[in-house]
Amino acid sequence: MKVSEKLALISNDIKSAAEKAGRKPDSVKIVAVTKYVSNERTQEAVNAGLIHLGENRPEGFTEKSEAINGEVKWHYIGSLQSRKVKSVINELDYLHSLDRLSLAKEIQKRAVEKIDCFIQVNVSGEEQKHGLSPQNAIEFVEALANYDKINVIGLMTMAPLTDDKEVIRSCFKQLAMLRDKIAAKNLQHAPCTELSMGMSNDFTIAIEEGATYIRIGSSLVGE
Ligand SMILES: *Cc1c(COP(=O)(O)O)cnc(C)c1O
Repeated sequence: MKVSEKLALISNDIKSAAEKAGRKPDSVKIVAVTKYVSNERTQEAVNAGLIHLGENRPEGFTEKSEAINGEVKWHYIGSLQSRKVKSVINELDYLHSLDRLSLAKEIQKRAVEKIDCFIQVNVSGEEQKHGLSPQNAIEFVEALANYDKINVIGLMTMAPLTDDKEVIRSCFKQLAMLRDKIAAKNLQHAPCTELSMGMSNDFTIAIEEGATYIRIGSSLVGE
């Protein structure tokens, strides 16, 4: 199926989920995750009107960002090793995976301009997942006050691998509550208004729980 056809289907689902939650559909931005697909397919996505593209490896990111034409906002959604920061940080618009001070330090050293970051939180507590525990997230955000290259625009999480919708919903709800707590602190370096949550299988639940960025790969551009 063409990306434009898949986009039409997903846009409908976004619209219903947003309306169900009393939200405006355009308060939800789609990050098209292109990590599984070719440069050609990625260009097709951009031509279909997708502006936000996401990659999860430095090599894939560099290859795509050099090959793709158009007004693209680049999102780095994977875990980022400190030694790879230098090669990507000045080419990307959003980092979704800030989860440790050593990474913040490296960004501070390498970034030329301020960068919009999401703090990755491991709400579900699954061992194989990256991210801070919810208990440590607030203190971590506060510690970032000293890093003027980092603007904390929000929080990011990945739901646990399960078919239990209520478990997934609870994970998103907890992230939204944590976001509200941090936003209420009115920290200059951390407006923390955004929520990056929801993927192909769970984005409608994420929207009902307040997602402002959903990261969709397989059901939009393909696997
Ligand atoms: C791959 C990936 C996605 C997209 O997953 P799909 O299930 O294919 O939509 C979203 N977020 C992150 C962090 C990913 O690594």
